[in-house]
Amino acid sequence: MINNAIPVLAYHKVGAPVTSSTDRFLNISPANFRRQMSAFYRLGFSSLTLANVVEYIRAGKTLPPRSFVITFDDGYDCVGKVASPILQEFGFQATVFVVSGEVGGVNIWDRAANKPQVPLMNWSDLKNLECMGWEIGGHTVSHPHLDKLDDASARAEILLGKLEIEEQLNRKIRSFCYPAGLFNASTPEFVRDAGFSGACTVRTGMVTSHQDPFLLPRIKVAYKDGLIGLLYRMLLRPSLPNMRPNRRSHRIPLPVYNSNITK
Ligand SMILES: [Zn+2]
Repeated sequence: MINNAIPVLAYHKVGAPVTSSTDRFLNISPANFRRQMSAFYRLGFSSLTLANVVEYIRAGKTLPPRSFVITFDDGYDCVGKVASPILQEFGFQATVFVVSGEVGGVNIWDRAANKPQVPLMNWSDLKNLECMGWEIGGHTVSHPHLDKLDDASARAEILLGKLEIEEQLNRKIRSFCYPAGLFNASTPEFVRDAGFSGACTVRTGMVTSHQDPFLLPRIKVAYKDGLIGLLYRMLLRPSLPNMRPNRRSHRIPLPVYNSNITK
């Protein structure tokens, strides 16, 4: 059986104001974002949500060819205002991971690191996206580093974040994303116990149907990536020899993974 590998793109902000170099952090211009989405459209790609991909993996089915996933971490306001109209032009839907305790506020978890404070979508914005076919996923209550929390606190952050989103949106959510890509040997199990069906990391790589649904790799898209940069990350970087091996079983102890994404 041919085993298709598909990209799960990891975005944060699209078109947030840039007044200094720190504002470029995990921020991408609307023009670059449109170029990237237009390329997928012209190549005949269809978008899937992360939950769709996990369904294929769990069913042991090959992932559909020419498909990809667009994810946004943290739920920035610019995602609803700038990215979603662009996606609508091409008929694509995305998955957005929401920090339940800060919906309608700002990325307060970045304040200590002096990173730009950027508005986050409110519940009404998230409901609108859901009506457009987007998936809303969990990203904890307060965006902690889960690898550093005691077990009870980590479980509470994961579960309460899920319950709050479900109460507000009046539906079950299925996908999770580890804040800052940080987790330890126990975290994927806590995510599963909370009732999520899959989770993504910031490990670089393409997703195949053989992967652990709680440790899905992604392709991070950064400020300077135009179309060429994105294709480089998709086509070249996932195959570099120093790539971390895929881990298929929760029984294998996982080392703490420190990502180069700090948000
Ligand atoms: Zn985040």
